[in-house]
Order: sequence, then structure tokens, then C-alpha cells
Amino acid sequence: MTDQGSFIPIGQPLAFRIIEKMISTDRVGGSYLFSGPPGVGKKTAARFLAMAVNCETSTFPPCGQCVACRKILSGNHPDVWSLSPREKKQTIAIEQIRELQGGLSFPPYEGKRRVVLIDPAERLGLEAANALLVTLESPPAHTLLILITTAPYSLLTTIRSRCQLLRFTPLSKDALLEIAHRAGVRVTPDDPMLELCQGSATRLMTLLQTETEESRTEINAFLSALLTGSRSPDLIETPKWAKQRGTMEIFLERALWLTRDWIVSLEERAGREVVNKELIRDVNTDRSRASRASLLNLMDALFQSMEDLKRNAAPELIFDTLRMQMEAIVG
Ligand SMILES: [Zn+2]
Repeated sequence: MTDQGSFIPIGQPLAFRIIEKMISTDRVGGSYLFSGPPGVGKKTAARFLAMAVNCETSTFPPCGQCVACRKILSGNHPDVWSLSPREKKQTIAIEQIRELQGGLSFPPYEGKRRVVLIDPAERLGLEAANALLVTLESPPAHTLLILITTAPYSLLTTIRSRCQLLRFTPLSKDALLEIAHRAGVRVTPDDPMLELCQGSATRLMTLLQTETEESRTEINAFLSALLTGSRSPDLIETPKWAKQRGTMEIFLERALWLTRDWIVSLEERAGREVVNKELIRDVNTDRSRASRASLLNLMDALFQSMEDLKRNAAPELIFDTLRMQMEAIVG
């Protein structure tokens, strides 16, 4: 059993209000496009809408307790379908659309409305997309199609124009905190991860789960030592966190934000907020000879390392190269 209301989307007030209006005026269309960056709650909202149109109590928000709601929450409702590329395939194939259309010619098994989530919609192959146009144009009665995408402009214009658009935006810090709290994950309001995740709850959870207390302390110590010009004593050995992709990624993100903060603090421009308060406190910028130009070079080096990491270069090698660059730049 889920907590009361824990399925209600958080942090997308506009999308929520539109859904509420649709339900309360009984004007739910046939085709929707949920568009926005990854990890901001598009799928949660789609599932919520599926519940709202199928809830046996016909209330808003849906009850979350009736058989229909519970089946949707557990992913076992026979009338809530989900369409993605088949295993090991890059795109949603035309055969999948044909099968879907065959299935849609029958009325819902037990729900009030059949809901089809096409996710990610940008993976529709060209043939599949064209075949889907007919269905989007005039969906069968009792059908609700929801296309979910992080890349709306890679969809055919004809697909986009046949769907009502619901825009999702990066989540606010408060929303992220609430989502983390709901998931039982401990995070404080000044945790830099809330910035690093760039408004994505999924990314936040990954970051929080990857970084252990130990690697976090070590990474901070390393950055402080480097940036204050004092050499960390154990630098002869590559630290453990620099050998793992996940923690190395966090290190790079932290280093990037810190460098950005450092530049801000050099400029002493009012109104621009320093993100890594806990770290920048330790950095005595006076003691370092780093200029704005050298810090910008450092940012370049960090971006390059991120690219290398994405291209599957060994984290350890990236770290060693970067460390030398950092020492030369900041030194
Ligand atoms: Zn219900």
C-alpha cells in the first residue's frame, strides 16, 4: 500500500493545473505530448493522468486506493500500456505500432479508458511515426495516447501538431527536497547536489546514491588542498574515488561548480550566488595566484575531462591528466 497521496506529481504546478482542469471539466483529449528535460516527473504525471481517468471514485486527485488506481500504481493495469523500443533496438518499430493499432480496435478490458504511454517518443522510427499519425489524428473512443519526450524537436512536426502539448520544467530546489524526502533519502537544503542535478530528480537520486560519505569528504579535501595551493600529501596514489566512473563524474561536477564559484568570488559581483558554500569557505583565494583567465582554462580542462569520461575513457587516466593540468593552472 502506498502512502496517502504519494503518487501526486510534485513540482510541476502548471502541468498539474492543466490536468486538473481537463479532469474537472471532463475534457480529456485523445493525444498528448509531455515534453521536458529528463527526470522532472513526466512519467509520474502520465501515470497520474491514467489514474485520474480510470479512478473508480471519479474524484480529483484520484484516490490511489481503488482497484484501478492500485493496479496502475503497481504497473499491472491491463488497460495501461507502455510502448518503448524492443530490447536491444534503438527505435520503436512499425510492427509495434501495427500491433498497438490492432489492440486499440478492441474496447478497454476493465478500465474506463485505455491509456498508452509512448516513451521515449523521440525513438519512434520514421515509418512507425508515420503509421502512428492516423491514430493520433483520431484516436479510437476510450483511448488516451501520451507521448513522452525529452527532445520534442526531433519528432515529426506532423506528430507534434496532432498532440496537445504539456511542458515540464526543471524542478525547483524545494520540489527536489520534497521528492527526496518522499523517497526517504536524506538531503539538506544546502547540499550542492541540489544544484548539480540541474533540476532533475532522477539525477539527484543517482548523485546521492553514488557518493558515499567517505568519497565526499575525500573529494572536498582534495579540491580544497589543490585550490589553496597546498599539495595533498597522499597524491602519489590515485584515490579510490578517481578509479570509479560514478564518483569521478561527481568529482568533475563539484570541481566545475567550485571553479565557477571561485570566479564569482574573484569578481565580487553582487547578486550572484556562490553554490558550494561549504567548500568555498575553505578556499583562501588570496593565497592562490590563480587569475580569472587561468580559472577559465581550468573550466575548459574540466569540460574536456567530462567529455572524455562520456566517451568511456578510463577514469583513472582522466584523473591523472587532469591533476597535472590543475596543478599547472592553479599552482
Ligand atoms: Zn482510485
